[in-house]
Amino acid sequence: MNLIFLGPPGAGKGTQAKILEERYGIAQISTGDMLRAEVKAGSEIGLQAKAVMESGALVSDDIIIRMLASRISRADCAKGFILDGFPRTVPQALALDSMLTEQNRPLDAVIELKVDDAALVDRIAGRYTCAKCGAGYHDSFHQPAAAGVCDKCGGTEFIRRADDNRETVGARLQAYHQQTAPILPHYAAQGRLHSVDGMADMAEVTRQLIAVLDSVKRA
Ligand code: ADP
Ligand code: ADP
Ligand code: ZN
Repeated sequence: MNLIFLGPPGAGKGTQAKILEERYGIAQISTGDMLRAEVKAGSEIGLQAKAVMESGALVSDDIIIRMLASRISRADCAKGFILDGFPRTVPQALALDSMLTEQNRPLDAVIELKVDDAALVDRIAGRYTCAKCGAGYHDSFHQPAAAGVCDKCGGTEFIRRADDNRETVGARLQAYHQQTAPILPHYAAQGRLHSVDGMADMAEVTRQLIAVLDSVKRA
């Protein structure tokens, strides 16, 4: 299955993509994670992206489209992918359409996770991840079972993103509403857009997503 998870920062795209990639045998592709890896490695892309990301603005379409094109041609995407955080602009959506048409890999669904802006600020401000395996947690909504120990790998070090602060959230939400939300009608017109209530608890959101995915799954 070839899927897109759309939604504002903190909507739960990454959390749900990690749960569903195993169930459906498809790869989560997070352009945000890819960019953070570039920043950490100090690569050319990383050097260009770092300040932009910290300000809450979007990295240029050019860089992102090239990065994504090489990523979806890797072997782990053979059975499909969940795009998490891409496309984020109309030019990115159009570039993706032509890439997929060229490769004869149609999209099965575009799923919008709907969450109120007010709730997103708390989700982002409380977000942290395991430094070793990348598992996601939240100060109020999703703590590890044993305090300070990752449920998945037993790691005891956790990290918070440089852009996950109350000051940057406003700019990121503005970028979402101005630059990303306009791609929703594009996919609605293709008959591929589905919406899920992202305000529900995590397990309920997973159930709703599975219902949509099972309805679009090809035999
Ligand atoms: P995104 O990838 O859309 O930016 P995340 O999946 O990283 O969002 O989720 C943002 C934060 O909110 C994380 O700390 C996560 O644990 C938490 N979270 C995710 N889904 C829910 C939910 N349904 N209810 C409450 N908190 C959630
Ligand atoms: P979130 O889901 O919390 O918004 P991401 O990890 O998806 O965060 O993205 C973090 C930052 O990386 C964005 O604010 C933006 O600067 C950059 N970024 C990620 N994906 C894209 C993209 N497709 N186009 C442009 N910038 C991107
Ligand atoms: Zn871990």
